[in-house]
Amino acid sequence: MTAYRNYVGGEWIGGEGVSTNINPSDTSDVIGEYVQASRDDAHTAVAAARAALPNWRLSPIQQRFDILDRIGAEILARKEELGRLLSREEGKTLPEGVAEVARAGMIFKFFAGEALRNSGERLASVRPGVSVEVLREPVGVVGIVSPWNFPVAIPAWKIAPALAFGNCVVFKPASLAPGSAWALAEIISRAGMPEGVFNLLMGSGGAIGDVLTGADGVDAVTFTGSDVVGRGIAARAVTTGKKVQLEMGGKNPLVVLEDADLETAVNCAIQGAFYSTGQRCTASSRLIVTGGIHDRFVEALCRRMRELTVDHALAPGADIGPVVSQEQLDQDLAYLDLGKEEGAHLAFGGERVERKTRGFYLTPALFTGTHNAMRINRDEIFGPIAAVIRVQGYDEALETANDTHFGLVAGIVTRSLKYADDFKKKAAAGMVMVNLPTAGVDYHVPFGGSKGSSYGAREQGSYAREFYTTVKTAYTLP
Ligand code: NAP
Ligand code: MG
Repeated sequence: MTAYRNYVGGEWIGGEGVSTNINPSDTSDVIGEYVQASRDDAHTAVAAARAALPNWRLSPIQQRFDILDRIGAEILARKEELGRLLSREEGKTLPEGVAEVARAGMIFKFFAGEALRNSGERLASVRPGVSVEVLREPVGVVGIVSPWNFPVAIPAWKIAPALAFGNCVVFKPASLAPGSAWALAEIISRAGMPEGVFNLLMGSGGAIGDVLTGADGVDAVTFTGSDVVGRGIAARAVTTGKKVQLEMGGKNPLVVLEDADLETAVNCAIQGAFYSTGQRCTASSRLIVTGGIHDRFVEALCRRMRELTVDHALAPGADIGPVVSQEQLDQDLAYLDLGKEEGAHLAFGGERVERKTRGFYLTPALFTGTHNAMRINRDEIFGPIAAVIRVQGYDEALETANDTHFGLVAGIVTRSLKYADDFKKKAAAGMVMVNLPTAGVDYHVPFGGSKGSSYGAREQGSYAREFYTTVKTAYTLP
């Protein structure tokens, strides 16, 4: 088997051995072997990006538009094939994989346009005759570190704005899902950029991530992943003087008030808590339900959960694919045990199941009788596990929703305009959903959280410019 290589300075290069990419739906299915970059390779990639920067930062915006548009068009044209690869390596269902790839394509198209729309300001000076311009310039060389759970969309929403605004990129994808990242990099490598503008480094977070957050040649680091790793990256980036942006986990509440439409509430919970195997930073893991609807909601939710098909990610009719890895499965099972020890009632699921192929299959799980101080309601589990917290009314629901260290997204299901409006104002989260699942966002508006979920500028939409550009103030006396 030939190994998929890293892309550094315009060439596909070997490295320090390979890592084997396994299909979590079928552990006998090997997707490929992926070269692991060395620390030296990482330094070479940073130097290549640095060398490419002086020309690329001044490249014509039409050139950047054309390149990004071409990348987006190819991704969209190949969404079935790339979606299949994504589902095969990550374990989300095929429709979810295809949708994620399509989203990545749309993101490149969006940022092609953003390259054209990058504007500045011109102001009068307080000194007569002088004019002042406020200009947006690229931040420089950007290190990108991404997680496995959106192996195409997250890299896309970091790489596309970086390139659109004239930055050079060194991209390190997650080790668990390098196939999608490699396919994306291969498309980018043919899009017409000068060598060194874009570099791919597959390899361990500890080694490669460490170089990206420490090297002098890197100006900014954008990271999506876990809380613990993110905090370490921020600390290091600050001591080496880099701009840094972090998107981390969530412990997202979905509030269900008794005036809710029951079907909407159940749909939001099913989609938000269990689709993509619950492996989403925007997953609804805490279902905060008022007394008047609690029993009806739990009963209807369990009924719907029973109808969900857990199967091979590529199997027709699968609603939920496997957990991504043995390690993540062990973590999910440990939290299921912990929930029981803490006194929560496992109302449904949480069973390790077998399918035709050997994979990491777990049925979606629902705890009831939980309270917000339990660890299953504090820690991000990152699996198909949700917990119901019963509350008396709206005020307690709001207080409970906000009682968490995270703040990515908060949802409410209600027919009351008054409560919906109040929740939009008072939910301590970067995103609020009314009568919609907490997971599932548009690609042209800002994405990000408050409190422990995010740090630094927002991602996506026109707000991405805050991170990927820096401001220059120019004074002129003609
Ligand atoms: P992770 O373990 O934090 O890894 C994320 C990335 O960081 C990977 O590429 C990893 O490389 C790399 N890394 C690990 N140690 C590093 C270090 N010391 N220095 C630099 N980089 C390092 O997270 P994950 O398990 O891939 O993803 C799951 C987490 O991502 C969850 O907590 C989830 O909530 C979060 N997430 C957040 C968002 C959001 O936007 N808020 C979106 C999606 C996911 P290796 O793969 O080689 O270890
Ligand atoms: Mg894999």
